[in-house]
Amino acid sequence: MAGYSKIVVAVDLSNESAMIIEKALEVAETGAELHILYVQEPMDSVYLGVVPYGPVFVGMDQVEGRLKEELQENLRGLGERFGVTDEGQHFLSGIPAREIHRFVEENDIDLIVLGTHGQKGVQLLLGSTANSVLHGASCDVLAVRVLTE
Ligand code: AMP
Repeated sequence: MAGYSKIVVAVDLSNESAMIIEKALEVAETGAELHILYVQEPMDSVYLGVVPYGPVFVGMDQVEGRLKEELQENLRGLGERFGVTDEGQHFLSGIPAREIHRFVEENDIDLIVLGTHGQKGVQLLLGSTANSVLHGASCDVLAVRVLTE
């Protein structure tokens, strides 16, 4: 079987991200294009509807901005570690599964690599990104087993 030549690894920037990228490299054919992608979910889309809009949201923009800088730095760090070019690093905003699907279609990706489980917390309450990506994917998906304690 020929290896994959245009791969996107969806990372949630948790500790397991490096291991998931390593798996992607194992199935990549020589000279394959490797992309890593992180989607930042807007905080108001996470909490609006749960908490009524009001003073509690004041200052959220600044918090979100600082968070973005920190997350971008983490993504850059992963990219440097695995030799992913700047063009191969993608920091998007929106609903993770939706943005991953859009990226795949716009870039003719032939394999999506992600973890079976992401970091705990808010995302788990919202449901599984892995599950949503698998449903409706237009290319192969490699779900790398992430062991939970
Ligand atoms: P989850 O389904 O949220 O538990 O996460 C499963 C996997 O989906 C993670 O191991 C990542 O590979 C990917 N993933 C989760 N959240 C994101 C995100 N915000 N951006 C990109 N990939 C993500």
